[in-house]
Amino acid sequence: MRGTVLYGPGDVRFEDREDPRIIEPADAVIRMAATCVCGSDLWPYRGLQPVNGPTPMGHEYCGIVEEVGSAVRSVKPGQFVIGSFATSDNTCPNCRIGYQSSCVQREFMSRAQAPMLRVPLADGTLVAMPGGLPPDDLVPSLLACSDVLGTGWFAADAANVKPGATVVVVGDGAVGLLGVLSAKQMGAERIIAMSRHQSRQLLAREFGATDIVTARGDEGVARIKEMTRGVGADSVLECVGTQESMMQAIQSTRPGGFVAYVGVPHGVELKGEQLFFSHVHLHGGPAPVRRYLPTLIELVLSGQINPGKVFDLVLPLDQVAEGYRAMDERRAIKTLLRP
Ligand SMILES: [Zn+2]
Repeated sequence: MRGTVLYGPGDVRFEDREDPRIIEPADAVIRMAATCVCGSDLWPYRGLQPVNGPTPMGHEYCGIVEEVGSAVRSVKPGQFVIGSFATSDNTCPNCRIGYQSSCVQREFMSRAQAPMLRVPLADGTLVAMPGGLPPDDLVPSLLACSDVLGTGWFAADAANVKPGATVVVVGDGAVGLLGVLSAKQMGAERIIAMSRHQSRQLLAREFGATDIVTARGDEGVARIKEMTRGVGADSVLECVGTQESMMQAIQSTRPGGFVAYVGVPHGVELKGEQLFFSHVHLHGGPAPVRRYLPTLIELVLSGQINPGKVFDLVLPLDQVAEGYRAMDERRAIKTLLRP
């Protein structure tokens, strides 16, 4: 088998690797229907996060079960399955309260940009599609459930989006755009997307954004205040992970409002005093995608949402290096890879 390996900044290779196989009795091996490049893959690709030797890449996946270990009960060969970027047993105390991405047995997936993938803790990690194999045109939207939609959904949920709410989304990457879609599904009345890129603004509008703000930083905050009678938004989704985006999110939130942060923080530092007087709820982290998977799969299958639209570039898996380049250069919002 060949798979994706990151050697260093800008150096993605598709090269020979050992075929995945069952190692633990709780494992499954799946044959990939589609995988993709994540915004978080760009941090090490851009040299903003260290790469310690050749690193197999990819954590978003869906496909058909090829083989299962002797302890696996809930999925079987031939089924179409979707899993989270974090494995979970779905039985420990953290899993039982819905925080499967903090499972006591958690592992972060990292070998999914490949034709085959070993999934540990298959029973707790994977969700089998009801009703057999999905039509091929739904595969991008089902793949989106694995991380990017699940993360956008968590952002909206953690930001306490309720019917009638005014919501701000900071970040117009794929997660931010699907945060817009999620807020819309949860009944937000006004959704303000902060974006400077026209193609992304268009998609944000299609997903339910009612307003676009192109200003950022203090100017962006001032604009949000103007639009909310001086108080700020009820719910703010921070989908970037930089100091500027985090402060923009906190300062755009009304006293008593909620900030959800799902962008992996890089160099973010918060001042206690500033937090104290901002009076906001903060909730974020790696999204417990597994909690939402059954709901999200159902919304896709019933045609109520089409999150696969964030994939504006589709490439054969062996051209994965171009997929990274296109996202790095912002020629693509998100790259889908087909084996
Ligand atoms: Zn657990």
